[in-house]
Amino acid sequence: MLSNTMNITAQAAWNNCLSFIKDNISPQAFKTWFEPIQPVKLVDAALSIQVPSKFFYEWLEEHYVDLLKIALMRQLGETAKLLYVIRMENTTDDSEGFTEKIPSANRSAVGTQKVNVPVRTKSPELRNPFIIPGIRDVKIDSQLNANYNFENFLEGDSNRLARSASYAVANKPGGTSFNPLLIFGGVGLGKTHLAHAIGVEIKDKFPDKTVLYISAEKFTQQYIESVKNNNRNDFIHFYQIIDVLIVDDIQLLSGKAGTQDVFFHIFNHLHQNGKQVILTSDKAPVDMQDIEQRLLSRFKWGLSAELNQPDFETRISIINNKLYRDGVEMPEEIIEFLAHNIQTNIRELEGAIISLIAHSSFNKKEITLDLAKTIVENYVKNTKKEVSIEYIQRVVSDYFQMDVATLQSKTRKRHIVQARQLAMYFAKKLTKASLASIGSQIGKRDHATVLHACKTVDNLTMTDKQFKKYVEDLTKKLSM
Ligand code: ADP
Ligand code: MG
Repeated sequence: MLSNTMNITAQAAWNNCLSFIKDNISPQAFKTWFEPIQPVKLVDAALSIQVPSKFFYEWLEEHYVDLLKIALMRQLGETAKLLYVIRMENTTDDSEGFTEKIPSANRSAVGTQKVNVPVRTKSPELRNPFIIPGIRDVKIDSQLNANYNFENFLEGDSNRLARSASYAVANKPGGTSFNPLLIFGGVGLGKTHLAHAIGVEIKDKFPDKTVLYISAEKFTQQYIESVKNNNRNDFIHFYQIIDVLIVDDIQLLSGKAGTQDVFFHIFNHLHQNGKQVILTSDKAPVDMQDIEQRLLSRFKWGLSAELNQPDFETRISIINNKLYRDGVEMPEEIIEFLAHNIQTNIRELEGAIISLIAHSSFNKKEITLDLAKTIVENYVKNTKKEVSIEYIQRVVSDYFQMDVATLQSKTRKRHIVQARQLAMYFAKKLTKASLASIGSQIGKRDHATVLHACKTVDNLTMTDKQFKKYVEDLTKKLSM
């Protein structure tokens, strides 16, 4: 305690720093980023300051580290040090959590140039399309679709993990280790439905929680708009007050560095403060491209749960449920026909039912198997047909005159291994399934095995005439 700062209190030292800082940045920036700071203590030449959030700390570090350093050294000498104390927001008990951060003090050389700062356009209310101005406080419209709830999300083997994890999250938002919860799977398998269901359930159980559903696409547009209008900070602050943030189709952030960056900050802030984040994607994190590594690694912090293609029984119950809700009756054999013929996409399955009902009621015709056949034909013709992994395995097994169980078995016999690798190769080529999903459906292998299979097939096709013939034959068979 016998240093030259002995007689200076933390408050006085900080006040002196502030007056220097104030002269070097815009009044707006000063108000936003420096007024909320509280000096906490001064020990030797180390000043601790309390900042409202981790995001705040990151922002200071990113934009004002040089300025802070100069101010501090002027005040406390060469050995000056700055420590951040982060106040945790909304911790469940009354005690405040503190995290100490040591800034990257030696990062940059001391300079005297004025630091460029972004100007925050201050507004009494957050300007955001989702805000409905209330009488006393602002309310956020959750953008949830009440029809997408748990009750009509039918359970099956294909969705059991994702469904129960979602339900757990809905019962204890921010309070499970499933944070973030990432729901991934192919088109039309229920990602959006499940994501809404979580939000709807939370709103029902915890009406005071601020829930927001947003597509990654809309999020991106809003962000671009905010940059254009010079209110990027309002945008960030808006998202930081959400308790439960649901972002649909995050694969759409790929290649968008600016949006990824801002999402990274929002994500960190929410996660740090125990808020729940729910994400959906049409790919597993390992298969996502052009998404920054630091963001991908965050996605993997919680739980990634996959929605697979529903099996026959689940398809039947989804159809029955839909018919029941629409008050329509349909003969058993037609229901089975639909479930047999539309396998890879529940949205298509629903679409076929809807057109079937429409046709029969417009034309005052009974719903017959023939009508169903015509509609399925049209339906499947009009939408690009995707073969299923089940089907690929069957075709490949037939071709090599073995059964599917043999193809999936653990044996290392060369011709069986090759058949299995070909099935994996075609599954990757012809479906949108992830490597992990292909692996789990073809003999419970991991994604690395599938990747290896694809490479092996590529290599053998180039070097082995007989093998090349296999690939050509199978390509023909599978495209029929
Ligand atoms: P995705 O977002 O994965 O493309 P959606 O969530 O939009 O798919 O689902 C497509 C349609 O299928 C929606 O109408 C949804 O209600 C329905 N659906 C998907 N999974 C189920 C399920 N398990 N039970 C009932 N309906 C489902
Ligand atoms: Mg969707």
